Order: sequence, then C-alpha cells, then structure tokens
Amino acid sequence: MLQPCRPISLATMTSSPFSVSVFDLFKIGIGPSSSHTVGPMIAARQFACYLQASVGLAAVHGVAVELFGSLSATGVGHGTDRAVLLGLAGHEPDRINPEQIAPAIAQIRSSGTLALLGTHTVPFIEKEHLLFRRKSLPLHPNGMCFHAVNAQGEEIATREYYSVGGGFVIDATGERVLNLAAGADADAETAGHGRGLPYPFRTGAELLAQCQATGLTPAQLMAANEQHWRSDGEVRRQLLAIWQTMAGAVQRGCASTGNLPGPLHVRRRAAELHKSLSSHPEAALRDPLAMLDWVNLYAMAVNEENAAGGRVVTAPTNGAAGVIPAVLHYYVNFLLGAGKVNEDGIATFLLTAGAIGIIYKENASLSGAEVGCQGEVGVACSMAAGALAAVMGGTPEQIENAAEIGMEHNLGMTCDPVGGLVQIPCIERNAMGAIKAINAARMALRGDGQHVVSLDKVIKTMMQTGADMKVKYKETSRGGLAVTVVEC
Ligand code: SF4
Repeated sequence: MLQPCRPISLATMTSSPFSVSVFDLFKIGIGPSSSHTVGPMIAARQFACYLQASVGLAAVHGVAVELFGSLSATGVGHGTDRAVLLGLAGHEPDRINPEQIAPAIAQIRSSGTLALLGTHTVPFIEKEHLLFRRKSLPLHPNGMCFHAVNAQGEEIATREYYSVGGGFVIDATGERVLNLAAGADADAETAGHGRGLPYPFRTGAELLAQCQATGLTPAQLMAANEQHWRSDGEVRRQLLAIWQTMAGAVQRGCASTGNLPGPLHVRRRAAELHKSLSSHPEAALRDPLAMLDWVNLYAMAVNEENAAGGRVVTAPTNGAAGVIPAVLHYYVNFLLGAGKVNEDGIATFLLTAGAIGIIYKENASLSGAEVGCQGEVGVACSMAAGALAAVMGGTPEQIENAAEIGMEHNLGMTCDPVGGLVQIPCIERNAMGAIKAINAARMALRGDGQHVVSLDKVIKTMMQTGADMKVKYKETSRGGLAVTVVEC
C-alpha cells in the first residue's frame, strides 16, 4: 500500500550527513542495486513529494527524468528505469512487494501514463520522458535530474539528486535526502542526524579510542549511539528484522530455480547446490573444507535473489548484499550450531559491522560507480570480518585488525558487471568476499591486535585507488569482464 508523504516543510526534506545509524547501512529493500535501484526510487519519490509540497500535484501536467553517468550506462541492467517509475508513483523500496513490481510497470507502460504518488495522473512515455545522458553531473557519477511542467509546457520545478551508494541519496547541495516514510518521527530523524551521540566516532582510531576510554566494545558503543534515535527495544527489534530478512533471502534463494532475468540467461545455482549439500551430509565429514561450500551457498542464494529483483538487505550495498548474511549464517550454523540462534550474538555481529561501515561511509565511499567494487564487496568483506571477530570474542584491536585485513586484500578491485547486470562477476564475488572475511577474522584473532597498516590507512588507500581508477572500471560496463565477455 502506498504511504502518503509526511506533512513536512521543504526545509526538513534533507538533513546533515554527519552521523549514520546502523539502519542507514542495513536497509531492507529490493534488488538488484542499492545505488541504481533503491537510491533512484527514493529520489523519484522524494521529487514527487517535493512537487506535492511546493507547487501542488494539481499544477503538474508532465514530468521528465534525466539519468546521468553510471545510471545511464548500466541503468537498464540495474533496474534504474523501473525504480524511477515506481518512485514517482509513490512506492518505497522497503515497502513494495517485489511481486507488485512487474504489474505496476506494465500498467505504466501500456497506459502511457503515471499516477504521481498514486493520485495524480500525467502522461509518461518512457522514450520521451526518461532520458539517458552519457555525461556525468558534477557531484557524483550517479546523477539524476527531475523536471515538472505545467499545462503550458513550462517548467515549474526541477531537482537534482545523486545516488551515492548503499541507497544513500543527496541533493545538489550535498545534503542527504531521507526516505520520508509516513509514520516515522520527522523531528527525531532530521534532528538526530548530526548531533548528540554519546560516543561519536568517524575513524577507526576514534572508535578504538572510545573503546579504550569506556571499556565498551564497538557493538556496545553502537547500541548506545543508536538509542539517540530509538529505544533499546526498538533497536533490538529492527536488528532482528534485518537478520530475518537476510535469512529469508537465503531461504528463497535456496528454493528458486531457472534463469535470472536478462540477456545473459545466467542459471540460478543455489537451489541445486543446496540440494546437493543437504543430501550428502556424510561427505562433509570427510571434507574439512565443506563449510566453504555452505558459505558460498549462503552468499550466492542472496545474490541470486538480489539479481532477480527480490527482497534483500542492503549490506552495505545490494551488489554486495550476500557477504554479511553469508558470514552471519556461518556464525549461526557452524559456530553456534544449527538451530541455536543467539539473538545477542546476532545483534553484536550487526552492530559491529555497522560501526565499521560507518567509518567507510564517513571517510570513503560505498559506491562502485565512485571507487569500483572495493567500495562494495570490499567494504562488506571488511564489515563482516570485524563482526565475525567480535562474536568470536575478539578485542576491539583485533576487530579493527580483522576489518583492515578484509579491505587490504580487496584494494584495487574494479566494477565491471557483464551486460550491466548485477550477476557476473557479482554473485560469485560475494561468495569470495565472505570466505575472505572469515579468513581475515581468523588471522586477526591469532594475533594480538597490533599491526602495521591501520584500518584508517587502508580506507584512505582504498579511496585514493578509487580516484585513480579509470572510469571504465567504475560501474559503466565499459571495461574488464564487461567487454571481454560477450553478451549472448
Ligand atoms: S562488480 Fe561489484 S561493485 Fe560492480 S555491480 Fe557487481 S557487486 Fe556491485
């Protein structure tokens, strides 16, 4: 069901990007891409809400959207076109039922009209009103420009937005755009971002210093900070909802067969692998590395769901949505033992991963279009490594070390999705990221936390490497595997 825009002043439609909640990093949404699907849907809905609050929907007789840079280069494969239509129609990535999407898009396309926020119908012919521009806008490779016209065809409103990775959206001033879901507390959300956290940190060094000064773990610090926005009970409830959504994606991925959408006709493999692993438990006893098959399975199941446009958790992006669930399933199923879900351990895992993700968000990027895949699978690997170290009893120093190792060996990883789809190399890459994360945690736990390269140094290196990377390796499908593998 469509939710109304909240009654807010235009001034509160954006907020400072200063501080980030764990629930900004882990967002329930739909596939296949946080930057190319979730972000554009939020931006499009935001534009419709802006029109309603500024000129009024009745004054609007037409809308047009321009997609720039990477959104143009890989937008169709990543579902940006559909996401924009859905957002203008009032849908939100965390609320839309994935099964609603195809009929909603078909209705817009067949009627040549679109109901803004589900209430005010305007003509919408995609080839005229949804335009792909190869150049980039100034702030980020994932730029969008929305326009509205009156009955005379005169422009009455225009807004520029950028989807900067992980479902985060900023406007032309660089201010963050919130997903203004109805029913949320606007004042708490907008005022909370930026001020008054009990244990603020923006770097790995600051996080460690807070831990040393207070005796708290990164997860405990995060839990205290989260109470700035919501109660302890609500934090726990939402963390478990994130876990359940991750587990649901694994389960659906393990049960779904056939090919993924798109011209590559990529076969879904998770169901077959799940059947094979489940039916030969004795083989696992002979093969000490059989656990790797299961971790691969968890990651591939989630990323196949993501590639199919299903429900996943952005963690911290959709392209990298399988890494953290895979490592968390490894913790629950192998370290705790199947069926022994430990809610405290799951909360610790997600809060620690969130603390590490915040440091990347504050100092670097979560966007493949900005820094390549090191900013997606690399960051997810780093977050998962630190989180696993935490639930295995690591000290804050060992957790920071695990997170650093998790990124160090993903430095320079490019983004080169074949056919502009989040399938090859993305699905297997998540499995590799999860395995690396487990090894990173184990390496860190065998040490004492003392190490030469700090997490902050590796993040700085990752950002510099991304800046030096040629554009063709940054989610444009103009380099790497995307050009050496020919589409069928
Ligand atoms: S290659 Fe990596 S960054 Fe690029 S779309 Fe795939 S998962 Fe995302």
